[in-house]
Amino acid sequence: MGEEPNAQTGAISNLRNEVPFLWLNPGRASMRDLPDNMILGSNDLKEAQRLWRRAGPLLARLFPELERTQGVIDSDLRPAPSLVRKMFPDLSERLADRFLLKTDHALPVAGSVKARGGVFAVIHFARELALKEGLIASEDEDLGPLAEPKARRVFEQWELTVGSTGNLGLSIGIMGSALGFKVSVHMSVEAKEWKKARLRSRGVKVVEHQSDYTAACREVRAAALETPRMHFIDDENSPELFLGYAAAAGQLKDQLDRRGTPITPDRPLFLYLPCGVGGAPGGVAFGARLVFGDQAHPFFAEPTQAPCFLLGMATGLHEKVSVYDYGLKLKTEADGLAVSRPSRFVGRLMEPLLSGVFTLEDQTLFQSLLFLHETEGLEVEPSAAAGLIGPKLLLGGPGREYIERRLSEKAAHEALHVVWTTGGSLVPPENHEEYRRKARTMVKT
Ligand SMILES: *Cc1c(COP(=O)(O)O)cnc(C)c1O
Repeated sequence: MGEEPNAQTGAISNLRNEVPFLWLNPGRASMRDLPDNMILGSNDLKEAQRLWRRAGPLLARLFPELERTQGVIDSDLRPAPSLVRKMFPDLSERLADRFLLKTDHALPVAGSVKARGGVFAVIHFARELALKEGLIASEDEDLGPLAEPKARRVFEQWELTVGSTGNLGLSIGIMGSALGFKVSVHMSVEAKEWKKARLRSRGVKVVEHQSDYTAACREVRAAALETPRMHFIDDENSPELFLGYAAAAGQLKDQLDRRGTPITPDRPLFLYLPCGVGGAPGGVAFGARLVFGDQAHPFFAEPTQAPCFLLGMATGLHEKVSVYDYGLKLKTEADGLAVSRPSRFVGRLMEPLLSGVFTLEDQTLFQSLLFLHETEGLEVEPSAAAGLIGPKLLLGGPGREYIERRLSEKAAHEALHVVWTTGGSLVPPENHEEYRRKARTMVKT
């Protein structure tokens, strides 16, 4: 290759050799120094938050599980003291009440973080149609009427399509069919059988591809361009998905304030986010930088076999580079993260916002999954466990340099570490047992 800047050659060699490591983003900038030509900004976040609010009455009508929250889709933020003792024995005193799980693995509707991006992308498109067809008169109206038969008759004439490694398809399939859309989900070769079966049982068309995610998306994108009344939700290039995720940062702020631990210069926030194409973690990180400013320190987690986002950042080539070019094969059980190329816009947007990315082996991921179950009784899918080792890397590993360089002693001590668990509650029990069986054979303990 040869085009990567010298400072990044160590990173590239680690990637090529599948050495798990922490990459610190040299481009992270303070809020004061953000470029003024960023393609998305705080107005976009505010608008997304507004659309989520307008959609509340609609979502509460469509999904009985959302009645209680009046249509708000959010997850608990909870401590995990036994997990901390087991996973970080050397840090357990320091982390005791400063380690939190943001439990998106249990998000309503879709059982994964995709309940944020996917549901939002469908709502966004449905509102566009509703305005065009006169079902609502203005963008400021609440979207309750979109659950009525008149709206359904409009949506039924449209087909939503999406490429997915599994969870995005579930989310679009569930939300799209709830509104009456036809939905076809194009699954890449990694997708699990149960995800396909569940979608089919809801009347969603599942098309199986023998190719990876990038290739599956390419085919669907081309088909959608030629087909009338077909709308392709493009995970590799979708500001709607991204902004749906970004709104999570405002919810996190409310939760932190309510538990009496607001983010301040003396109490910064570290975030650990599993990363595939970068939409979900990118959206959350973007939202977090806007909401918490320089006090937010977002880190992404990727499998050593699929570090596409890190590769894009370290080379500056983003979607123009693929992990295949570096001899990697996407051989990971983290199906939600098994992506060879990052999103076409998230990387560039993240250049001044992101703190770093770490890679990890499947063994680490399965060990975390097992610990989470043994100590807290939580069941997540392998992708969703990727962030858990983050605090150890930052506080007891190569990330100490980052902390020492940027934080006062007090802030370093008081920082909150929030690990995002991104999926799992819809996984059938026998698959969870299979994950744990597999984990036990991989883990020495
Ligand atoms: C999709 C997904 C991610 C990552 O999201 P991207 O937008 O692809 O980066 C992480 N965890 C789970 C469980 C997912 O389904």
